[in-house]
Amino acid sequence: MTSTPVPGADPASAHFFHSLDEGRLDLLVCRQCGTAHLAISVCDVCGSIDFSSEPASGIGIIYSFTRVHIAHHPAFADQLPFCGGIVELAEGPRLFAPLLGEEPISVGAPAIFEWQQIDGRGFAAFRVSAAAPQ
Ligand SMILES: [Zn+2]
Repeated sequence: MTSTPVPGADPASAHFFHSLDEGRLDLLVCRQCGTAHLAISVCDVCGSIDFSSEPASGIGIIYSFTRVHIAHHPAFADQLPFCGGIVELAEGPRLFAPLLGEEPISVGAPAIFEWQQIDGRGFAAFRVSAAAPQ
């Protein structure tokens, strides 16, 4: 079995990956303008570098999605096909993650954060409801 590739953190994303390794999805909230970010070192709205760490609600909606049929790494070959998508969190930030649960998936469908652990590292996934968007 091929080991799963893991992302490397940089100064802007270290907070994001550290929270996932500990089983949470945390945000960096700008203390000047209140904008929530996932991974950033300078607020792209107001230029501040002053952030507080706050847990995300874990609630979002499907912004976009795709069904993956070709493994981009041998470690994922036995998982094909799978769905991945961009989830827009209630706080605003968007992230790409595996989508779990009922199909068909639709843009605007609710998605709930579900923590996953692979090879000792934490990852974000989202459980999707097939319910039609309201
Ligand atoms: Zn700001």
